[in-house]
This record gives sequence, C-alpha cells and structure tokens, in this order.
Amino acid sequence: MGKYQYDYLIVGAGLFGSVFAYEAKQSGKKVLVIDKRDHLGGNIYCENIEGINVHKYGAHIFHTSNKEVWEYVNQFVEFNRFTNSPVANYKGKLYNLPFNMNTFYQLWGVKTPAEAKAKIEGQRKEFANITPSNLEEQALFLGGKDIYEALIKGYTEKQWGRPAVEIPAFIIQRLPFRYTFDNNYFNDIYQGIPIGGYNKLIDCLLNNIEVRSNINYFENKEELDGLAEKILYTGKIDEFFDCKFGKLEYRSLHFETEVLDMDNFQGNAVVNYTEKDIAYTRIIEHKHFEFGTQEKTVVTREYPHEFSKDNEPYYPMNDNTNESLLLKYQELASEVAHKYIFGGRLSDYKYYDMDDTIEAALKLVKDILK
Ligand code: UDP
Repeated sequence: MGKYQYDYLIVGAGLFGSVFAYEAKQSGKKVLVIDKRDHLGGNIYCENIEGINVHKYGAHIFHTSNKEVWEYVNQFVEFNRFTNSPVANYKGKLYNLPFNMNTFYQLWGVKTPAEAKAKIEGQRKEFANITPSNLEEQALFLGGKDIYEALIKGYTEKQWGRPAVEIPAFIIQRLPFRYTFDNNYFNDIYQGIPIGGYNKLIDCLLNNIEVRSNINYFENKEELDGLAEKILYTGKIDEFFDCKFGKLEYRSLHFETEVLDMDNFQGNAVVNYTEKDIAYTRIIEHKHFEFGTQEKTVVTREYPHEFSKDNEPYYPMNDNTNESLLLKYQELASEVAHKYIFGGRLSDYKYYDMDDTIEAALKLVKDILK
C-alpha cells in the first residue's frame, strides 16, 4: 500500500460498490466507500414510511437464475416468497402480465392453449417473416396486433419518450409469452424480497467498513484520489471524463408518493397503466412486497421523465448513437486503468438487474482480488 491510507477508494455505495467493498475487506484490503447521497445503498435504498419499506428509487424485485448470486445474497439476508405478478390496466380493464393464458382469456375469451396459439398465429401472421429491428417490430413479431396495441405500445412510448420504432428490440425480449396460467413476471428460478428490506442487505455488506456519505467525489477528486492506491468508480462514465465527447443519454423517472388512509389500495404491488393518455406507467403499492398488514398504505405513481442534471439516470438508452459514444469513453477508461477501475450499471452503461450487478461485481473481485 505504501504511501496510501487505503487500498481502494470506492466511489458509490450502491450494490456494485458495496459487494466489491465487502469482498475487498474479506481479502484483507483497506477500503473507504464514499457516496454523494445522504444514505447508502444506491437505488435499492428504502425509506421507512408508516412501517412500510418504500422503494425510493423505483421498485426492486430480486430475481435470478444464477445460483452463485442467489447463495451470495442469502448469506446476508433471507428472502420472502414474493413473486412479481403485475396487472395491467388498459382503458379501465384489467389484464394479467406477463402475457399468459389469463391475459389471452381476458383479451379474446380463449380458454385452451391451442385456441390461444391459433389466435396469436392469426394476429402475428403478417409479421411472422420479418427480422425485428426495433421494439415495435419485435412486439408484433412475437404477439401480433392486439397485445401490442393494448399492452405494449402506449406503455413503451411513454416509458422511453420516443416512438416504439426508435427503441431497440432487446428491451421487449425480457417479457415472456406463456401458454400456461402463470402470472409470474420472471422466468428465473429464484425470486423474492429481502426479509427486513434491502437496507439490511446493504448494512451487512458495509458492516465495519469506513463509509462517508454526502461526499461529492468530483468536488474533492484530487484529495480523494490521493487517499487510495486504486479507485473503483461506479458513477456515470461520461461524467468521469467531464462529458468531453458529449453526454450519454438516459431515461429518468419522477415519483409521486403518497400515504393513504386505507389498508389496501390496489391489492397488488404493481399495476401498470398501459395507455398513452395516463401520464404515469405504473402505481406501486409498497406494502405488498412484504405482505404488510399496516393500517395505512403508501403508493407511488411512476412518471417517465427526461433526464437532466436535476434527476436520476435510471435507464441507459442503449441505441447505436449512445453505444458508439460509450466506446469512446471506454477507450479513455482503459488509458487510466493503472489507477481507476470502472464498474456497475452507470459505468458500464447497461440495463442491469440486481443479479447482473452482483454477478459483475463478483467477476471484478475474481479478476483483481483473487
Ligand atoms: N412493457 C410493456 N408493457 C408493460 C410492461 C412492460 O410494453 O405493461 C415493456 C416496456 O417497453 C418496458 C419493457 O417492457 O420498457 C421492460 O419492462 P419491465 O417492467 O420489465 O422493466 P423495468 O422498467 O421494471 O426495468
């Protein structure tokens, strides 16, 4: 370590930084974690309101098929049996998600998988021979017109703030189609919410690790860089380089949260509003993630929003323009690799789920600590 007080300065106390900090400490390294916010945990942080864990930065549902990642998180916290089964509200009617036999029955009255398949084949006939090159084509190719119009187009266009033909196809490949009556949104083997909340997971990872919140790295960069031999930076990669080639684009969100004087508002954790004319994309009722029995309830309306310096970068816009910009920043990053390591959702500019984040952090651990 020589002249440095720490082996690693970790910029960002989110899931990626916290997993790396924990593992570095386990390997006998001295680490300091800083974060610009006044709390730890990045976007998985929850705020307790009326005894309910409120997902302040959007709903987080842990799901994975990676056994190593599942066992990893389970050494810190137990998970409950929450299974995400969102309901979609389109023009006042309710439909189950993801697209499954319940949805097909609600849309068309079909009762058997054979009837549903025949219906969908008819619906997608004119698109069956295309090679989808954008989200609209991908959706039409998979399920045809009715599903696209009622459950995808409006939601997607307000979520991303651009026409569906300008959105990459891979975004919708996440949504399963099933010919069973199964409303589980995810195909993964493991799923749940940490018992006691996500903050508990972060507290376990950062236990006995030096952390400083309310620290803006860029305002004290020189001094902070002088503290540690290596810096793990988990923030936006363009910002690290002063956005000198231009800004990477993100889609942001605006949350409106209210406490309601009733015990159950919508009977489900997630209700999507798929029509274009309703400005929010979904209403989250937080207590249902943990089967809460509190007297009151807390709901959050989620409004997609332009990204600016005044809000959070949630979704990377992984189109060709942004991907080529990213490459330029990654080249700069490789030039400073002797001192700076880049990792996490914002540095990798990827649409990471929590399990992807942990997997990436554990890979970094293997590459440089083991
Ligand atoms: N989507 C949709 N209708 C829905 C829910 C999702 O069309 O009711 C599409 C939309 O394009 C969205 C994508 O599927 O961006 C992924 O949605 P998901 O809820 O999986 O993503 P999250 O925003 O929760 O990361």
